Amino acid sequence: MTTGKINVQTENIFPIIKKFLYSDHEIFLRELVANAVDATGKIKTLTSIGENKTELGDLVVEVIIDKENKTLTIRDRGLGMTAEEVEKYINQIAFSGAEEFVNKYKDQTEGNLIGKFGLGFYSGFMVSDKVEIYSRSFKATEQEAIRWTCDGSPDYTMTTDTKADRGTDIILHINEESLEFLEEARIKTMLDKYCRFLPVSIKFKEELINNTTPAWVKKPSELTHEDYLAFYKELYPMAEDPLFYIHLNVDFPFNLTGILYFPKLKKNLEVQKNKIQLYCRQVFVTDSVEGIVPEFLTLLHGVIDSPDIPLNVSRSYLQSDSNVKKISNHILKKVSDKLEELFKENRTDFEAKWDDIGVFIKYGMLSEEKFYDRAKSFCLLKNTDAKYFTFDEYKLAVEPNQTDKDNKIVYTYTSNLEEQYAFVEAAKNKGYDVLQMDGVIDSHFVNFLEYKLENTSFIRVDADTADNLIKKEDKRPILLSEEEQTAIKELTEKAVEKEKYFVQLEGLSETDAPALITRPEFMRRMKEMAASGGGYEFMTGMGEQFNLIINANHPLMKKVISAATEDEKQKMIRQTVDLAMLSQGLLKGEALSGFIRRSVELI
Ligand code: ADP
Ligand code: MG
Repeated sequence: MTTGKINVQTENIFPIIKKFLYSDHEIFLRELVANAVDATGKIKTLTSIGENKTELGDLVVEVIIDKENKTLTIRDRGLGMTAEEVEKYINQIAFSGAEEFVNKYKDQTEGNLIGKFGLGFYSGFMVSDKVEIYSRSFKATEQEAIRWTCDGSPDYTMTTDTKADRGTDIILHINEESLEFLEEARIKTMLDKYCRFLPVSIKFKEELINNTTPAWVKKPSELTHEDYLAFYKELYPMAEDPLFYIHLNVDFPFNLTGILYFPKLKKNLEVQKNKIQLYCRQVFVTDSVEGIVPEFLTLLHGVIDSPDIPLNVSRSYLQSDSNVKKISNHILKKVSDKLEELFKENRTDFEAKWDDIGVFIKYGMLSEEKFYDRAKSFCLLKNTDAKYFTFDEYKLAVEPNQTDKDNKIVYTYTSNLEEQYAFVEAAKNKGYDVLQMDGVIDSHFVNFLEYKLENTSFIRVDADTADNLIKKEDKRPILLSEEEQTAIKELTEKAVEKEKYFVQLEGLSETDAPALITRPEFMRRMKEMAASGGGYEFMTGMGEQFNLIINANHPLMKKVISAATEDEKQKMIRQTVDLAMLSQGLLKGEALSGFIRRSVELI
């Protein structure tokens, strides 16, 4: 028997490890199973190059709970370790990793540190009073199996053992605070989370718990469409079928495999996020991939697997890591390629999917310049007749009729087809095309496109009268005399709240409505931005403001002028204004019942 001191300066590092890894205790199982899987992979390799003379046998890794003795065992049939290897890899190397960790984090008061820090093997001490290793190397002669014991102090003992099978048992003597790890259900949940796709069979309670060849490790040519869908269901049993998918497979200049799925996006972007799972050689690491893929791509689902992403470091370090940047750019490029391919190969299908992928593409264009540059050739604009155009196509289509007197092209749009129906009609009657911009992020997208597209502006159909949406030539003259105009204006101002409605007389056509309420484009957008925290917060307190436009050329105005009494004039104007409000959904409560009463009187 040999005893010794593990090669560290810190007197007792285990209390510190326990404290700092507190919130992440369960990763010990991932680390120990991953080591068992590594050892199994190594014996396979050694066998294939003729270096192992022992019988390969059943290579399953087992996780065994012994409630009575309060132990949890991780057993493998891998290459095993000799006494020298334990000395080197456990006593020196693994421990120096642990020490490095402690030195780095001892000044922090609390820690929620991700997974491993070269801690691997020693993470077992987070949940144990004592850890034992029984191991028999493939190189060992009969007497040479070893037993190593350590109770968490830097002292360890090592003796020879009679273990007959090649491989390693790691036995954790679970401590009082960690008894949860002797519960079957708890261990099963952890195995499902971390070990679901490990490349070596894992047995727990006589059952194999993992799929050793998940779809992403296979070649695309080996997989059918159904295989991809089945794997999606395996990852997200509750989800609807995805729209399409991308198989990632790179080995230079970094290693990356994975499958990304485009889910059907619902209106709410937030809940869809963070479904991508990150693996490192088939070991689950995290399902929070911020910093590794561009933010908008976190809307996708699926799996990314890379041994080249440094997992044991902070997020901010991750973002500056050059491998991570390359990976991120690569994924961005693959996603753009795929979308472009779909657009080019089957435009009809692409259009059919647009309502689901449009929001994703627009979000990407808003948040990543590089993606905008790619997507501007296949991003679609949809009009109120459900026809789709690329940016270039749309410009060509509307330019002739929608260029204003300053040579600017004006795109008209609606944010709500039902509510703005009358305005949409009016704009269409002028021969204008109206875009549907009614998605969750379309108000931002409109601002953004206006800034991106040259010489183009957007105006919502209810921002002005149809005549004025696109200012072409000088206005139509008003047919009323100056005094008549003043009279109408005064009557109208009496009928509404002054702070809310700005009254204007205009000479529209006789067939236009007698009165019209519009929401000035600029004010409305400022308010929308304020509502979403875009830096115009001072405007949130302001009430909404409208333009009340009276069509002075409407025959009704002549009637008002020639009405017998002042009271009758006021009533007619009141009624006209109320009708305009009604069509905007602005007539409510007392005002609405007043309007109904007056209408009945009139009949
Ligand atoms: P890492 O896995 O990152 O090398 P660990 O602390 O997890 O760090 O393990 C340290 C070393 O101990 C491993 O590199 C390996 O050489 C050895 N080791 C650990 N577990 C086993 C095992 N089950 N079988 C054989 N060797 C092992
Ligand atoms: Mg390890």
